[in-house]
Amino acid sequence: MNRIPYLLEIMEDSEFTVIQRYFARQPCARSDVVLGIGDDCALLRVPPGETLAVTTDMLVSGVHFDPDTDPEAVGHKALAVNLSDLAAMGACPAWVTLALALPAPDGLWLEGFCSGFFPLAERFQVQLIGGDTTRGPLTLTLQAHGLVSLEQALRRDGARPGDRIFVTGTLGDAALALALTQGRASVPEPDQAYLRERMDRPTPRVRQGIDLRGLASAAIDVSDGLAQDLGHILRCSGVGGRIFMDRLPRSQALRSCTDGPMAIAAMMAGGDDYELCFTVPPQHLERMRSLARYWDCRCSEIGIIEEGEGLRCQWRDGSYYHPEKLGYDHFA
Ligand code: ADP
Ligand code: MG
Repeated sequence: MNRIPYLLEIMEDSEFTVIQRYFARQPCARSDVVLGIGDDCALLRVPPGETLAVTTDMLVSGVHFDPDTDPEAVGHKALAVNLSDLAAMGACPAWVTLALALPAPDGLWLEGFCSGFFPLAERFQVQLIGGDTTRGPLTLTLQAHGLVSLEQALRRDGARPGDRIFVTGTLGDAALALALTQGRASVPEPDQAYLRERMDRPTPRVRQGIDLRGLASAAIDVSDGLAQDLGHILRCSGVGGRIFMDRLPRSQALRSCTDGPMAIAAMMAGGDDYELCFTVPPQHLERMRSLARYWDCRCSEIGIIEEGEGLRCQWRDGSYYHPEKLGYDHFA
């Protein structure tokens, strides 16, 4: 009885069915994709003068999201967090690969996933160009590719004393949403839905990153908490910084949280914001502010780069805020 080859055939068949049915059906077709899904490699054209920006992010069920999270939110977020990294580099998103480990070829879950993933891909003209599909504990690893010229890439090491510090959108919403689901915080009912949405469906600040080319001296996306991520800019640039705590942008939902200190900790060290934090030298402030008027999100000036190392967080009355923890660390 030769049973093993038969079993292998069934598994392979369903693997290819999954790829065909769910992943090889994207309407968006970019002319720089010479060969997409279906061969051993994708073949892509990088236009002359552009540099390829590459980023990868992994989402592990039970670590990055609850196992019973709406698969649509998982699909959206898996792509959004990768596009957020491209945005923080000033890159224009182009392509993405998807490596997926699934416990079983669950059609309902895959349908849901695709209904979160592909609309976001369409919105930013990103084409899924390949990946891998295997059986295993639910894990998604995406690699996203974007284009930016070498001179205009927004790196972390260009901040200089006197540059102003900005952040897009609002901070702390996703961290507060997590605290809500864990019963550590409470806000009125309508605000809960808003916070939950901010946690599940972050908006990558792609347009903002592209507008900041040639204007921002440094940029990062806030994924692990403002204090920690701004800290990366400061360290890489060899400078210090001062944040004016009263200026941190907070949503109306976050303001309604009864636990003030928790809301502040969520803004400073919560993470999962996927907003851009960036620095702008004085000579580019006016141009940057005039572009920001057309953004679909807030843009707040929250501080200034200084010479002495480290981050100082100051209230209007002159007192200092000392964060208990800097931000999220998987091994802390
Ligand atoms: P190989 O064995 O040569 O690596 P696979 O059989 O794993 O190829 O995949 C076949 C094709 O389907 C390849 O082009 C691969 O990039 C693509 N692919 C596999 N899984 C996915 C996925 N989850 N999303 C998008 N494309 C995928
Ligand atoms: Mg493969």
